[in-house]
Amino acid sequence: MGGFVTRRSILAALSTAPVLTMAQTSQSPATVTTRIRRLQLKHTWTTVMSSSTYRDTFFVEFRKDGITGVGEGAPIVRYNESPESAKAAVDAIAPYLEICDPGQYAKVMREVFARVKGEWAAKAAVDIAILDWASQRLGAPLHRMFGLDPADTPVTTFSIGIDKPEVIRQKVAEAKDFPLLKIKVGLDNDEEIIAAVRAVTNKPLICDANEGFKSKEAAVEKINWLARQGVQLIEQPLPAAQLRESQWVRERVTIPVIADEACLRPEDVPRLAPYFDGVNVKVDKCGGLQEALRMIYMARALGLKVMIGCMVSSSVAITAAAQLSPLVDFADLDGNLLIANDPYTGVLVRNGKLMLPQRPGLGLVANADA
Ligand code: MG
Repeated sequence: MGGFVTRRSILAALSTAPVLTMAQTSQSPATVTTRIRRLQLKHTWTTVMSSSTYRDTFFVEFRKDGITGVGEGAPIVRYNESPESAKAAVDAIAPYLEICDPGQYAKVMREVFARVKGEWAAKAAVDIAILDWASQRLGAPLHRMFGLDPADTPVTTFSIGIDKPEVIRQKVAEAKDFPLLKIKVGLDNDEEIIAAVRAVTNKPLICDANEGFKSKEAAVEKINWLARQGVQLIEQPLPAAQLRESQWVRERVTIPVIADEACLRPEDVPRLAPYFDGVNVKVDKCGGLQEALRMIYMARALGLKVMIGCMVSSSVAITAAAQLSPLVDFADLDGNLLIANDPYTGVLVRNGKLMLPQRPGLGLVANADA
């Protein structure tokens, strides 16, 4: 029997050989590229907080073994973030990212969270790039790694920014393919704005006050009026810190009250549960899709409604957030539709419904002209 090659001996030899499977990665270092891109807006964008004609967002490219993962985050001034600070934060951890195993994306992001203080948009961009890489490596669309059915995506709202009534009427007409519109309220002329919308359409609406109502009493009066105008939910009627006041409002109105500015990260979800009907989860604020997923599941466990929202950003960040949309009640993922020079094509919208790419990873295709 000596020297006789058996099936068992072949299997034994194979089991100790360093075979690189689809789920493993090579030892060769990755290349990490960071960059700030200026996204031009189709319309000047106004909320109660700011007004602008462009938005600078932060991009990460993670290249390894011939695969490029792309991520994006929209830094938020309110949280002391800028595109420059995001870039500096990721450049500082590039030596770690270059030698990490992106297939172990949960561990990679634990390490990134330990190394980077704040800079949630930067962390989101890294998380998205690593997940895009890992799911491309496995040959699967990212939503399949989360076990989700692309047929379950909701419709997305289309947001109408604060503007003059004649411009609002024009914007609503342009949004004819969207069955659900989102209207920014919280200014002194809310009645005029809703009247301008209602002059053009009877579609259901959701409204976002961005903390803009002046008092809890004014909020109740305004929300009940909005409900009579066909508004289905209200986002963040009062300042983020006013939890008891928000609960007081919630007990006196007939439509769900959703926390947005009050809800940043997973630990906020149980804290807010007694005071709101639901939470708006934003990938840029919590630091990535893995954190967003935790927030969604925690909100569900607490009986909360879930909305997934976005900042103004390209199809990279929007397509990433859309990968989780089969899990939510309301999607507000129109940030890429507001820009004129989107560098990528990813998630599409058909009659308002989010259509996830079936290509591996995020399924992005670079636009040649951007
Ligand atoms: Mg909001």
